Amino acid sequence: MNFIEKAKAKALGESTLLSRLQLIAGESPPRPYFPLHASSLTRPKPEFCPREAAIMMALKRQEDPQHIGMATRVAFDIGEAIHDMVRDKWLRPYAVGNWECWKCEYTHQFSRVPKSDKCPGCHEYTTWIYRELVAVGTTLPVTGSLDVVVDLGMPKHFLTEVKSIDKDQFNQLAAPLAEHRVRTNLYLHLVADSDVPWKDSIDLTRAKVLYVSKGYGQKNIQGTISPFKEFDVVYTPESIAPYLAKADLLKQYIDHGKMPKGICPTSFVPRVKACHCPKECWGTQFPPAP
Ligand code: SF4
Ligand SMILES: [Zn+2]
Repeated sequence: MNFIEKAKAKALGESTLLSRLQLIAGESPPRPYFPLHASSLTRPKPEFCPREAAIMMALKRQEDPQHIGMATRVAFDIGEAIHDMVRDKWLRPYAVGNWECWKCEYTHQFSRVPKSDKCPGCHEYTTWIYRELVAVGTTLPVTGSLDVVVDLGMPKHFLTEVKSIDKDQFNQLAAPLAEHRVRTNLYLHLVADSDVPWKDSIDLTRAKVLYVSKGYGQKNIQGTISPFKEFDVVYTPESIAPYLAKADLLKQYIDHGKMPKGICPTSFVPRVKACHCPKECWGTQFPPAP
């Protein structure tokens, strides 16, 4: 809690709930540049710059922790809770992943939810909790956590991206948003590029994006009010080529010390304001490799 929020909490009085709820605001640690997370590589703003990542790594510097205010914290946590409901409750019988005992952390790897509630690790009755599968590229320094993999009785399982969205945006949605389409493609690519033992169980030609409304939902073509919209995303390598090219530039730096060129054409474009090392970028210390 920063100084202003502390003062606000005090002003609210010690006997109010709000004075305590203010305390959920706080700092969020920055994501590392290596391994690079798929969501950092594909985020629309600020756009990922391989030069910024390489310079920050060369300087052994990290981004400042991000301040998360109370309302943003609640919005993030509601989004996370919806993800958990999809995997641990609504799609529980079909969700394939790592199921962890909440008592001892014993984990059934890459399976549907265990039929027995008795844990082989602690030998007690337990609740199994879904843990995301992770794919790490072998040719690119990129990692991705897969929201959920589902077994629909087809020859292969479907990788599924889950997105909770505002009700008005949900009602207007007729196709996956570009950002989600790209990220889903990148996850398919990462699984194909990884050496995970379950790779052959996943359909690598297409995946699903499941949107969940934060409101009540909308009437679907069957006439049912539904808070869910499901879209298939066909793997299109062209859609992720620019992102893979950027990840490769970072790899060239990590493996061979080749400093990448940046994404800003001049030092006056808006992206420079969001950069963590603009002085070093436009100075003489880190010339881009030819
Ligand atoms: S100023 Fe632009 S090009 Fe330079 S490192 Fe920052 S984001 Fe990249
Ligand atoms: Zn256990």
